[in-house]
Amino acid sequence: MATEIYSWGGAEEVTGSKHFLETPHACIEIDCGIFQGRRQETFERNRTLPFDARSVDACVLTHGHLDHCGNLPTLLRNGFKGPIYSTPATRDIARLVLLDSAHIQASDAEYAKKLSSKKRRKQGFVAEPLYDQEDVDRTMERFRPIRYQERTAIARGVHLTLYDAGHILGSAMALFEVEEGGKTRRVVFGGDMGRKNLPILRDPQMPPSPDAFVSESTYGDRLHEEIREARDQLGEVVRQTSERGGKVIIPAFAVGRTQELIFMLHLLSDENAIPEIPIFVDSPMAVRATSIFLDHPECYDKEVLDAFVLHNENPFGFERLTLIRDVEESKKLNSLHGPAIIISSSGMAEGGRILHHLMNTIEDPRNTILIVGFMAANTLGRRLVERHEKVRIFGEEFRLRARVKILNAFSAHADYEELRSFFSGYQRDSLREVFLVHGEESAQKNLARVLREEEGFRRVTMVRYGERYRL
Ligand SMILES: [Zn+2]
Repeated sequence: MATEIYSWGGAEEVTGSKHFLETPHACIEIDCGIFQGRRQETFERNRTLPFDARSVDACVLTHGHLDHCGNLPTLLRNGFKGPIYSTPATRDIARLVLLDSAHIQASDAEYAKKLSSKKRRKQGFVAEPLYDQEDVDRTMERFRPIRYQERTAIARGVHLTLYDAGHILGSAMALFEVEEGGKTRRVVFGGDMGRKNLPILRDPQMPPSPDAFVSESTYGDRLHEEIREARDQLGEVVRQTSERGGKVIIPAFAVGRTQELIFMLHLLSDENAIPEIPIFVDSPMAVRATSIFLDHPECYDKEVLDAFVLHNENPFGFERLTLIRDVEESKKLNSLHGPAIIISSSGMAEGGRILHHLMNTIEDPRNTILIVGFMAANTLGRRLVERHEKVRIFGEEFRLRARVKILNAFSAHADYEELRSFFSGYQRDSLREVFLVHGEESAQKNLARVLREEEGFRRVTMVRYGERYRL
């Protein structure tokens, strides 16, 4: 038997990443993400794994986003007995993200139990969680943290080395060296590919010349704005809104985007580029995530080290910033007068404390709702992006009179020019094959065309669900 790769998730789609490297002696799974989408369909897909979890010898987690780590507890429930390798920061983020996911599943299940079975079917609620907190605790015991560039034997004839992917805190590309018949084959699973110049994080590293590379292609047909512009634009929005006497309300994911915003506001405030107004982060999960960021200075880029760490300053804490966990403290923000910045979750404004802040500010034209992330269809966030005249929050109708400003520069995924420039650094005859995963068809096709026709890579393969590819 030869060494093969295949995917049971994250092939021809962007959620539920589950990729496999199978050698004659070992089966290794890379990521075990959750499928996101309509509740009922995804529940079945998430609960029933299309492979035998007992045959997986080890798992490698590239980073802590839910679509990469969210179904690890199900892997254990189905009999997986091996270790899970990741960076220390990824382990900590995965714990936070999995506990939050278990919590949401438990409340959804509670809610579903109160519905009639007809209503339940119609709304797609499932009266049973995929996993609970105990499953998460058991999963965390399997983690074996390894540092970047620390070559580690993980199975018979297989070595693993992690390289910084520059996507979120702790994110990694996984280089596998497989001994087979006296030869060594090298394959990289890139996870999600980050970008140069992202705040806080180092730029993506280039793992040394592999024979094959499995790459994401989420933005294989799109270009982002320059990240450097994000900070200036953020400063401008804050200045203009404060001049009008308004508030800036920012729906943001608790892990990653919120810390980037805190960091940028800290820099802007040190540079006196924004007026001295109070800044609030109102989300218990964001507060927990921020303390994980503080625990992992080994992941910071030079800018954070030079600007803060070298002077023993906390990059994620400054005088004007208040982190709020407590519900009562959160409620006090409702009666706040004058200019302020409020960052809260959920990131797409489909739930969470952000709804209260939007409700309070949406009808006042002095305020700005600042959009810093992708808003999926059918979320309140998307309706704000589309500037609907009227929106419903908690069943009540509100007129959208606040300004809506969209900053597109914040994406943590490489666009196709960034992917092209990354791959152009490899020799065409040593990197013999690029496999594309984690992207919709049009994105994959465009990236495949760019790599083949413009960059001269001979073999670029779009990975199909469940299909096996020989290395
Ligand atoms: Zn990701």
